[in-house]
Amino acid sequence: MKKIIIANWKMNPATPQQALRLAREVAHGTKDVKNIDVVLAQPFIFLPLLRYTPYAVRHPFQLGAQDCFWEKVGAYTGEISAPQLKALGVKYIIIGHSERRALGETNEMARKKILAALALNIKPVLCIGEKEKKTDEVFPYIIRNELHEGLKNIKKSLLKNLIIAYEPVWAISGNRSSHADTPQNVYEMSILIKRELYRMLGKNIASRILILYGGSVDDKNATDFIKDGAVDGLLVGGASLNAKKFVRIVKEAAKL
Ligand code: PEP
Repeated sequence: MKKIIIANWKMNPATPQQALRLAREVAHGTKDVKNIDVVLAQPFIFLPLLRYTPYAVRHPFQLGAQDCFWEKVGAYTGEISAPQLKALGVKYIIIGHSERRALGETNEMARKKILAALALNIKPVLCIGEKEKKTDEVFPYIIRNELHEGLKNIKKSLLKNLIIAYEPVWAISGNRSSHADTPQNVYEMSILIKRELYRMLGKNIASRILILYGGSVDDKNATDFIKDGAVDGLLVGGASLNAKKFVRIVKEAAKL
């Protein structure tokens, strides 16, 4: 299976010019990389820019979004629907990121967004992860719950397009005490997540669901996570805003 590296730009950069420059540098740096899917999950407002500027039409990355609403159209002030994103060429949508959950997103909201994406053949990237590192819980309850509630009553056959991002909240850069997880722990968690998916969905579907790791990934530790963490790719936040670092991450991953 092709590895996948997703850049989560979050609410960055500040201007369209900067977004274009960042995308151009990533496109230039990764143009010869063949065996990796590179996704730029960017703020909604930059999507048309990256979709329609002439150079961007030939770019080697895929367009991603960081959220969507579950209704298709209507009186939902401030929301963006999956069909609107599809029309702009979006192929991946991050759903249930811990920063959105902190603003009130529930498992049920994530579930409806997953359904909206799957219905249009857009790949949902469901973020799951425990808030604190706990030594007394092998498979944290919160992760099991995010999986069960987030995927409840969704037709199994649709879920082959699902991607899971294991993102322990304590590992996401930004708060002072955050630090990357260890590849060993990521290995164990990815096995436990796979096992849970096998139980829930059966081997046929579960074996097709990719598992990514995210949390303080940079150009120094990326290789170890993919090699020793047994994951299918990475979700990269902070380091994806530095084109040189992000390109290095993609190129290192391509060597594995
Ligand atoms: C994220 O927020 O999805 C993330 C992985 O962030 P960072 O790489 O900055 O820890």
